[in-house]
This record gives sequence, C-alpha cells and structure tokens, in this order.
Amino acid sequence: MARVELARLPTPLEALNRLSTHLGGPRLLVKRDDETGLGLGGNKLRKLEFLLGEAVAQGADTILTAGSMQSNHARQTAAACAKLGLACELILRGRPQLDEPYLHSGNMLIDRLLGARVRIIDATVSREDALAQRADELRAAGAKPYVIPVGGSCLVGCFGYALCAEELVEQAKDRGIYADAIVVATSSCGTHAGLVAGLHSIKARTRVIGVAVESDRASQEERVFALAAETATALGAQALPRDQVVVFDDYVGSGYAEPTQEMRSAIRLAARTEGLILDPVYTGKAMAGLIGLVQRGYFKRDENVVFLHSGGAPGLFGYPEALGPD
Ligand SMILES: *Cc1c(COP(=O)(O)O)cnc(C)c1O
Repeated sequence: MARVELARLPTPLEALNRLSTHLGGPRLLVKRDDETGLGLGGNKLRKLEFLLGEAVAQGADTILTAGSMQSNHARQTAAACAKLGLACELILRGRPQLDEPYLHSGNMLIDRLLGARVRIIDATVSREDALAQRADELRAAGAKPYVIPVGGSCLVGCFGYALCAEELVEQAKDRGIYADAIVVATSSCGTHAGLVAGLHSIKARTRVIGVAVESDRASQEERVFALAAETATALGAQALPRDQVVVFDDYVGSGYAEPTQEMRSAIRLAARTEGLILDPVYTGKAMAGLIGLVQRGYFKRDENVVFLHSGGAPGLFGYPEALGPD
C-alpha cells in the first residue's frame, strides 16, 4: 500500500482528569488527532497519507477534492499538496447565509495562504458531479488529476484510521490500561469506519461510538457499516458484525454546522476544565455527545473512554457566531 509521510505520529494520548472529575463518570482520555501537525493538523492527514500515496504512485500532478467552505479536509489536503509539490484544486460549497468570517477567515484563509485554487459552487450543485467534471477538463488539457472524495472517505483513506486504532490500543497498553470505548464525530464516515475495521481486524474489544453531526442514526450507521465492512475485508479480517457500528444522532441539532446549546456548553467545559480547544461543527457536538452519554449513565464508572479529538479548531474563526454570548 503506497503511503506518504504527512502526519506527526503517534499522536498523544492524554488523561482528562479535571473533566472526568467534573462529570463524575468514567475515566476520560483524549487522543490528540488535532495535533497531527501539518497545516494546523486534524484527522484528514491520516487518510491523506494513503490517498496521496496512491496519487503519487499513479503519477498525478493535480489533486482535486471538495467540501464545505470551512472544510478542514480541504485545508489539510491543500497543506499536504504544498508539501508534496502537487497542484491543489478545492471545490467548495457555501451555505445559504454567507458572512464575512465564513467567506474569508478560518479554513478559507488558510486554503488561500497555502496556494490552493479555490472554486466556489452553488449549494444546489452536487460536489461529486463538480469533481468529475473538473477532472475531465483537466485530463482534456493534458494534466493528471487525482480525485479525493469528500472527507477523504473511501477504502484507501480508511486505512489511515485502521492504523490509528492499532496505535491507540498499543498506547493504552503501554499505560497499563485498556480503552473500553472511543467516542468520535462521524460525518463522511471514514474516520469512524476505519477505527471500527482496524479494531475488528486486531480483535480488540474496544467499542466505537459515533456521534453524528449531520445525518440521522439509520443512514449514518448504514454508510459507516458499508465502508467499515469493505475495509475489514481488505485487511483480511473476518466478516464485520453489523452491531459494531453504533451511532447516536441526538446531538445534531437542526443540521450540519448549525449550532446547538449542548455544543456551546461542551466547548466551554472542555476549554475551562482542560484547556482543550474544540470546534463548533464536529468535535463540539461529539463532546456534547460524550457528556450526554456520561450523564445518562451509558458508561460504567471504571471504564476508560477515549475522546478522539479530530481537529477543526480553525473553524472557530470561520463561525465566530456559533459560540453565542458567553
Ligand atoms: C472531517 C472531520 C470529522 C469527521 O470525520 P469523517 O471521517 O468525515 O466522518 C470530524 N472532525 C473534524 C474536525 C473533521 O474535520
């Protein structure tokens, strides 16, 4: 499997002692995948190591990907392309209300700084169609494009998170503990699916709990399961049981990137008990999910629960209104 080195690994596994005490629940830890380094870091770099490994092996010269205007995936792709000397084109979709920070700050500011070519499409246009069309144009012009799907979520990208699962299990073992559960934001599915497939392939009994940030439980579980099963098969593992994919959709609110009160409280609590900076779109809602599950008694008191911090803090500057008044 072709791979390029982009992320600073292994990422730290840290105890969240003050947050654990505050919640009076299980022992909480955080896996710092916000600290993967390149281009302000985040979870997409682990996927990009394999995706761009394949692109380089194929002789690609231009990388195309898509996302929302405040996409962390787009930013990390742009940074990786800069480092590897590849041209990068980002097809980004806006949202109905476009304010100044959303258009020009946060991830958008960094994308431009990194020299990516940014094209904005209408919210009604399919990103997949726009990617395919632009790839055709580039091929016709003699370039060698490589298309990365939204969020880098496909079989190749999932290998990055299958390896993260092994990394985490080893790290926990080194500390003399067992990770009973991992809580992760789940959106384009690759992070969640890769973790599930990786844990299954090494026969770890760590449960993965996905907190949806845009979709309902049934459709998110279905998409994650399809990708996780495909990844498990590619890793040579036994068939993946359906019940290993678990999603909670109680923390989505009114939709993708739409703020919720629970998200605001979770971001403030993580910041004020641990100095841990979360984001309003993904990790804030995932932490709201973790807090909600602890309060509902979902975990046993003596369990070790790992919050996967998938990054995204640059988005705080793209959605400054999301936190609301203090
Ligand atoms: C993309 C992203 C996620 C979601 O990961 P998927 O693999 O798309 O499900 C979570 N957190 C942050 C900060 C992200 O940028």
